[in-house]
Amino acid sequence: MFDFKKITQETDLYNLHTHTQYCDGHATMEEFVVEAIAQGFTHLGFTPHSPISVESPCNMGRDQVQEYFDEVERLRRAYGDRIQLYTAMEIDYVSVGDGPASDYFLNLPLDYRIGSVHFIPAINDPGMMVDIDGKFQAFKQRMSKYFDGDIEYVVKTFFAQMMSMVDEGGFDIVGHMDKIGYNASEYQEGIDEEPWFDKLVIDLFENIMDHHLTIEVNTKAWLQRNRFYPNLKYFGMLKRFNAPIVVNSDAHYPTLLNNGRLEALKLLSVL
Ligand SMILES: [Zn+2]
Ligand SMILES: [Zn+2]
Repeated sequence: MFDFKKITQETDLYNLHTHTQYCDGHATMEEFVVEAIAQGFTHLGFTPHSPISVESPCNMGRDQVQEYFDEVERLRRAYGDRIQLYTAMEIDYVSVGDGPASDYFLNLPLDYRIGSVHFIPAINDPGMMVDIDGKFQAFKQRMSKYFDGDIEYVVKTFFAQMMSMVDEGGFDIVGHMDKIGYNASEYQEGIDEEPWFDKLVIDLFENIMDHHLTIEVNTKAWLQRNRFYPNLKYFGMLKRFNAPIVVNSDAHYPTLLNNGRLEALKLLSVL
């Protein structure tokens, strides 16, 4: 089991969720390492979007995995005296047996694994997996094309997928656990304030705690959308139950490596 606590107790300058040239990031791993060192970071984990069974331009291919491992090794040799680098992945949970718990991922020599949901099945076609994680404009189009405008279906299915992922296991960190809250509330204002929505988040939280997983506080959207995942209103719950957490920027650009992280850490520290 990867010891996240050791890192988080030692420093605030770590990031364990980083996208680079191996998926949809906008810079090379080396550019991230150079920027991280310049900002004083002592720990940096790479988490390309994992190879996936559905059509996705954002995910790495299986044929790139070895090259990715080799590149982390090369960077460790070049920069390992200044920063601790981790070979990890943000693994998509697609369906039962097709996610972090599959043999393929369990057998990869990764330092740790983030489990995330970015796809859910279309409303009338369970075999059609639809990306619900992207920009709101794309989400809005998909709402009518794949979900008959049924936002409750989308929210409930997202959390059902998250619950199954947690039940199946095979990973260490739960990625952006209530991320659907952003697109859903853009689509229907206030939906994430409704009691049934709240219950889905709390049930998921309890399930994560039962499985002794680490929860990510994802700060990627703080600057642009003024939103953390999980939402700020759940920070009190994280503290009250002493949930194991890591604070990640989910950076796709080196300059955003620390985006929202210190704000989240500060908010967590005063609770
Ligand atoms: Zn993600
Ligand atoms: Zn990510």
